[in-house]
Amino acid sequence: MKLLLIGPPGSGKGTQGGRLAERLGIEHLAAGDLLRAEVAEGTELGREAEAIMKRGDLVPDDVIIALVMPRVEAAVAANGYLLDGFPRTVEQAVEARKLAERVDAAPDAVLYLDVPREELMRRILARAETEGRADDTEDTVRNRLKVFDEATSPLVDYYRQRGLLHVIDADQSEDDVTAAIVEVLPG
Ligand code: AMP
Repeated sequence: MKLLLIGPPGSGKGTQGGRLAERLGIEHLAAGDLLRAEVAEGTELGREAEAIMKRGDLVPDDVIIALVMPRVEAAVAANGYLLDGFPRTVEQAVEARKLAERVDAAPDAVLYLDVPREELMRRILARAETEGRADDTEDTVRNRLKVFDEATSPLVDYYRQRGLLHVIDADQSEDDVTAAIVEVLPG
C-alpha cells in the first residue's frame, strides 16, 4: 500500500501517519522528521534547512526530493509507504511522479486531513508546551498556515482531479480519525 497524507500543521499527520503505518505494516516517512534529524545531526543539508524551518517556510524542492525519494524507493521495494508532509507543492508532486514512474511508486490513495483553523491553532499551541518544537511559536505557525494555503492546498485539487483524493474529517478523536481513514482505503 502506498499512501500520502496531506494536511495543515496540527491536522494530525504525524499521529495518524504513525498509527496507520504500523497497522498496515508499511514505512512511515515523515518529511519534517527527516529534516529535523538532519538538523540534529548538523549535516550540511540540516544547516541549510534549519533557518528556513524556523521561519516556517519550505525548504527548496530539490533538497526535500533528494532526501525523501531514495527512502520512498526503498519502501516500495518492501511493503509500501505512508508519506506525511511530502509532497507539499504541486511542483514536488510532479517531480516525484517523474522519479517514481520507474519504480511504480505512485500513491494508491491520498488522504486530506481536514480540520477547522481555530482547532489547528489550539492543537499547535498545546503541542508547543509539550514538544518544544522550534517552529511552533505563534508567528511561525501563522506563516506555516499561510504557506499551507498558498503552496500546499493546490495539491488537494491536483489529487482530486486524479481521482485519488479522500477528504477525512480530522476534527474528531484520534481513534475516530484512524477509523475514518481505514474505511476509505482501497481494498
Ligand atoms: P512538518 O513536521 O511536516 O510540519 O514539517 C516541518 C517543516 O519542515 C516545515 O514547516 C518545512 O519548513 C519543512 N518541510 C517539511 N516537509 C517539507 C516539504 N515537503 N517541502 C519543503 N519543506 C518541508
